[in-house]
Amino acid sequence: MHRPPPGRIDLLLRGGTLVDGTGAAGRPADVAVVGGRVAVLAPGAEADAAEVLDVTGRVVTPGFIDVHTHSDALAATFDGEGGPDHDGGAGHGTEELRLAPLLQGVTTEIAGNCGTSLFPALPGRLTGLAEHLRVTFGLGPVRPAGDFAAFAAGQRPELRRNHLASLVGHGTLRAGVMGFADRPPRPEELAAMCELLDRSLAQGAAGFSTGLIYPPGGYADTEEIVALATVAARHRKPYVTHLRDEMSQVEAALEEALEISVRSGAALQISHHKTAGRYGWGATLRTLPRLERARAEGVDVRCDVYPYTAGSTVLPAMLPPWVSEGGPAALLARLGDPAVRGRIRADIANGVAGWENTVGNGGWDLISVAAAPARPAAEGRRIAELAAERGTDPVDYVCELLLEGRGEVTIISHSMREDDVRRVLASPLSMIGSDGVPKPGRPHPRWAGSFARVLGHYGRRQGLMPLELAVHKMTGLPAGRFRLTGRGVLRDGAVADLVVLDPAAVLDRASFEQPLLPPEGVETVVVAGRVAVRGGRPTAVRSGEVLRVR
Ligand SMILES: [Zn+2]
Repeated sequence: MHRPPPGRIDLLLRGGTLVDGTGAAGRPADVAVVGGRVAVLAPGAEADAAEVLDVTGRVVTPGFIDVHTHSDALAATFDGEGGPDHDGGAGHGTEELRLAPLLQGVTTEIAGNCGTSLFPALPGRLTGLAEHLRVTFGLGPVRPAGDFAAFAAGQRPELRRNHLASLVGHGTLRAGVMGFADRPPRPEELAAMCELLDRSLAQGAAGFSTGLIYPPGGYADTEEIVALATVAARHRKPYVTHLRDEMSQVEAALEEALEISVRSGAALQISHHKTAGRYGWGATLRTLPRLERARAEGVDVRCDVYPYTAGSTVLPAMLPPWVSEGGPAALLARLGDPAVRGRIRADIANGVAGWENTVGNGGWDLISVAAAPARPAAEGRRIAELAAERGTDPVDYVCELLLEGRGEVTIISHSMREDDVRRVLASPLSMIGSDGVPKPGRPHPRWAGSFARVLGHYGRRQGLMPLELAVHKMTGLPAGRFRLTGRGVLRDGAVADLVVLDPAAVLDRASFEQPLLPPEGVETVVVAGRVAVRGGRPTAVRSGEVLRVR
C-alpha cells in the first residue's frame, strides 16, 4: 500500500475490494486515478480527489481485455452507403453494437482475428479486397488499409469508447498480395507477404492470425504459415489461429498449429478453442492435456474461449471451399447453377478431405440465421425450418439467401457440448475472448455477454472458478500474452482502465432473442482515466485509442 501520490487525484474509488488481475486474492484498497494512471492506496488513506466514488461492497478490477473480436470495422472509415452510422434490421444500430463490450467492462478489444483484418495489402489489391471485407464485416463498403499505420489512422476517434489493438490477418494479407487464388504463393508473392507483415508488426500490430477454414486463408499449406509465423516470432508476437478443423479432425489441426509454433518460434494462441460437432464432442478430454504437455515441453501455447455452446460465422463457411474460389463475385456467379448446388449437396453428405464440413457434422436444423440484411424475417430462425416453410431444399434456400444478400449472411451454429465448454473455461491455459461478431440483425449474444457470463453464470452461480481467476483470464493473462504493457494488472503506474462491479449481481442478460441486452452488475468503467460508464450507463466520454504494441 502506498501513500497518496503528489498532485491532484482525478478520481478516487474508495472502500472497495481490489482484484488486481494477477489472480491473487482480493484485498481491501482504495484506487486513485492521477493523470490517466493508477495509484493503489491503503484503505481509508487521506486523499484529496476531484471525484470520489464510494465502492463499498464492490470489486475493482483492471479493464477487461477481449482478446478475440471481429470489431475491426465498427469505428473504421467507410465509403458511401452503410458504415458506422447505418441502422440494423432488428432495431439496433452500430452505436449499440459499439457500446456492448464497454457495458460489460471491456476496455481493450483485439481485432484482426481468424485471418481477417482491414489491412495489409499491396496498393493494386485494395479495391478487390474491399468487396471481401464488406461481405465479412457486414457493415457496408469498408475501406481496406495498406498497412497497420493506415488502419490506425482510419479509425474514427469520435466513435471509439475503448481501446483497439489489431492482429495482422493472414487471409487479408494473402488476398492483398495474390487475390483469391487456390494455389501456393510463388516465391516473390511469399516474399511480398512477409514484407507487408513485417511492416505492420513493426508499426504496432499485436500478432499474426490465421483462419484456416476460411477462403483464401485456408488455401495455404503449413509451409506458407511457418514462413509467415517466423516473421511474427522475430517481433516476439504470437501466432494466433482459428484451426483448420474444430470438429472431427481437431486433433490433427492442433498438431499442425503446434508444428507451426515449434518451427517458427512464435508463441501459439489457439483461438476460441472448441471441439464441435458430433464427432468432436468430448475431444477436449484429449486436446487440453495435449496442449499442457506441449507447454511443459517448452511450447508457449495458450488458448481463448467464449462461454457458449453455439458458434457464429459467415454462411459461405458452411459450403465447401471450392465454392468460394476467386472471391465473393465468383461465389455468387456459381450459386445459381443447379449442377453446383448438386455438388454442394454431395460434398456435405460425403465430406471433402481437409474440409471441416459443419453441416455434415450437425445438420441445417442446428444452424440459424443471425444477420441477413436482404431477408430480415429469417433472422433468429433455423435454416432447416426456413427451407421447409418454403417447400425447398436447405441448400437451395441457402444459395438463394446468399444471392439475395450479395453474399452477406451470418449464421449461428449450435454445435458444441456443455462439458467441453466448461473444460476449456476451467483450463489453466485459457483466457476469455468473445469472438464477437458485431453486426446488425440478431448477432450471437457473446459480443454483449461473454465477460459477464463467465463472471456471473460460470463463476458465481456454477462455481467453475473463483472471481480472482475469472478476472485474471480477462486481464493479466491476456495483457501478458499480447504484451499490452501497463495494462491488465492494477498496480501503481498502470494505465487507468478500470471496472467496478458488484460481485453478487454481475450476470449476462444478452440472449439469442435479445443479443445486445447489457449485463447486470457492471457499474463503472474507466477508460484511460475517464469514466466511460457510470451506474451501468454510458457517458459522453470517448477516450479509446488504437494501441501500438512494440
Ligand atoms: Zn474464428
